[in-house]
Amino acid sequence: MCGIFVVAGNKEAARIAYVGLFTLQHRGQESAGIVTEHKGRLLSHRGMGLVGGVFSNYALDYLEGTSAVGHVRYSTAGSSEIKNAQPLFFKTSSSELAVAHNGNLTNAARLRKELGGRGAIFQSATDSELIVHLIARCNGSELEDAAAKSLPKLRGGYAFAFMAPGKIIGARDPLGIRPLVLGRLGGAWLMSSETCAIEVVGGRVIREVEPGEMVTIRGGKLFSKRFAPRRKAARCVFEQVYFARPDSVVCGRTVQLARHNIGSLLASELKNIKADLVSGVPDSGTAYALGFSQRSGIPYKTVFMRNHYSGRSFIQPDQKLREFTAHLKLAPIRDVIKGKSIILVDDSLVRGTTSRRIIGNLKRAGAKKVIMAVASPPVMGSCFYGIDTPDKSDLIANRMPQEGIRKFICADGLYYLSPENLIKACGNNSGTNFCSACFTGKYPL
Ligand code: SF4
Repeated sequence: MCGIFVVAGNKEAARIAYVGLFTLQHRGQESAGIVTEHKGRLLSHRGMGLVGGVFSNYALDYLEGTSAVGHVRYSTAGSSEIKNAQPLFFKTSSSELAVAHNGNLTNAARLRKELGGRGAIFQSATDSELIVHLIARCNGSELEDAAAKSLPKLRGGYAFAFMAPGKIIGARDPLGIRPLVLGRLGGAWLMSSETCAIEVVGGRVIREVEPGEMVTIRGGKLFSKRFAPRRKAARCVFEQVYFARPDSVVCGRTVQLARHNIGSLLASELKNIKADLVSGVPDSGTAYALGFSQRSGIPYKTVFMRNHYSGRSFIQPDQKLREFTAHLKLAPIRDVIKGKSIILVDDSLVRGTTSRRIIGNLKRAGAKKVIMAVASPPVMGSCFYGIDTPDKSDLIANRMPQEGIRKFICADGLYYLSPENLIKACGNNSGTNFCSACFTGKYPL
């Protein structure tokens, strides 16, 4: 998962993009970059690590211009190193082009082989670069036309932002798997992976970029064009379950409210459960637990203190780092826990190792009983569209039955939300269609 933030038409473009990326930091922590356009040339600054560390005042001063494309990355294709940091930046004999990508292309290997066979030389290991080679092969076409011809050749989930002198283009995959929204800040145009970043920079959200739509911002105006016919969408439901910030609006519903609603529906499915208190695994588990508490009447209590400087364990690229940050980030509050039976709500159960460690922490802190209530169905399949879920064989729901999982995570009870209620809670009653393939195994592509 990555984050994209675009500004077009403001003399503080780089600084606004910086704030936008800072807001989208939860979507990727491995690298960050901003490209601006100044006097017809593109200026680029990229680095490894968090947004606050990558951009100094000096770097932001260097990034002059009224347009900016920014990106935060965590890797789903290509390793975590500077050559793969985005926006990727290309120079041709006649122009320059920068590309920021959120998502994953399912036909990347085939395209790479085909393009390589026709002489393409790749400067990164990302699937994001493929679109540039496809565009470059549309000899002499305007960027809009070349992008419109090239995008239909991609399969998978994607949102792109392209910058060339005089224009910025945004595009979203035909199923709308990955998000992209449009906003305004005075006379400037904004694009973002999530609405929260538009709000934080003081802008207002206009609408989503539609699935299969390409928007071009040129001369202060926005032009829309479809590169794929309208079809039934398959928006990623995991955005609401885990990734999106609670103050973002996804599919017409504020994520915090969707999570609250999910917690409430989970409680309605588990009517007969008794406990002294309900709590959530911070941060995303908290909203679920509040919804659960409100519906069940079981009081909500905070049982963990979260260290907000330790990063999100799920999106660290390597197992060793994941374990380290998981230990660091949650400290049990003993006096709340001691002697209590606790319903612990978490957003999802993927490998089971984090739940096992958290429940172990609660028990060592004196919990009498810990019942795990998962605010999503069992994760049964890998994601091929841009979320870094593990290989199918590492998913605990594929390795053992529910009772085996309960024993493995050392819980006194284990319950999951039904797929029906997940979709019911995330939709906005207007027939929004979701991808929920990692839970159901029904892949839209
Ligand atoms: S498979 Fe899961 S994580 Fe991937 S796009 Fe679909 S719902 Fe989202």
